[in-house]
Amino acid sequence: MEKQSQLYAGKAKTIFLTDDPDRLIVEFRNDTSAGDGAKIEQFDRKGMINNKFTAFIMEKLDAAGIPTHHEALLSDTEALVRRLEMIPLECVVRNIASGSICRRLGVEDGLELNPPTFEFFLKNDPLHDPMVNEYHALTFGWATQAEMDEMKARTFAANEVLSKLFADAGMILVDFKLEFGKHNGKLYLGDEFSPDGCRLWDAETRKILDKDRFRKDLGGVIEAYEEVAHRLGVRLD
Ligand code: C5P
Repeated sequence: MEKQSQLYAGKAKTIFLTDDPDRLIVEFRNDTSAGDGAKIEQFDRKGMINNKFTAFIMEKLDAAGIPTHHEALLSDTEALVRRLEMIPLECVVRNIASGSICRRLGVEDGLELNPPTFEFFLKNDPLHDPMVNEYHALTFGWATQAEMDEMKARTFAANEVLSKLFADAGMILVDFKLEFGKHNGKLYLGDEFSPDGCRLWDAETRKILDKDRFRKDLGGVIEAYEEVAHRLGVRLD
């Protein structure tokens, strides 16, 4: 597989074309951003950790019947993925209230959500990724009803698989964000799954083990990511 020119550079990943029109190379960088890119810092080893973490989680999801774009790890910081046409909606499932839902709805941080709840957000940095509903998506052509139904079902199915995976390793999956895309008419999970895009708390102490350590200036960001990887059995070296 030959790495070719850069297709796109996001806030934490760079995407490269390959000599296969159906395959891309994702490079995970050490950049960490919060507040739609308002705050950016580099952390040694972060690209490597998130690359290997994402591969580990995507392999678990694929094995559970939730198709993902992941194909192979190519290096510490690069993975080969299926090329998708991304749907510009972020799918968030919440098991416990934290973050934006607390600010928007005035609910207490840490409140258990039963049943878990679901939200769509529009991927749009200048607009700060606003929450949108299904009528907006239909009206503006961001996704069809069938695509949204499938994304919701897959995100809840991923919640079942991953909540158990993290619980078995002594952690609570508080919430997470997924992004999907299409290839030859079929829906796949794209993007990444790492502590950058989910909230993880220690099950006993509720210590924060995810990107909220960076957002809230709690320190120990990479140490927390490494601890999560270690507890799950993700091989980093
Ligand atoms: O900020 P909010 O509480 O809405 O985030 C919900 C979940 O989605 C969190 O786990 C957060 O890390 C993730 N998220 C993300 N990328 C965004 C917005 C939220 O990964 N642009």
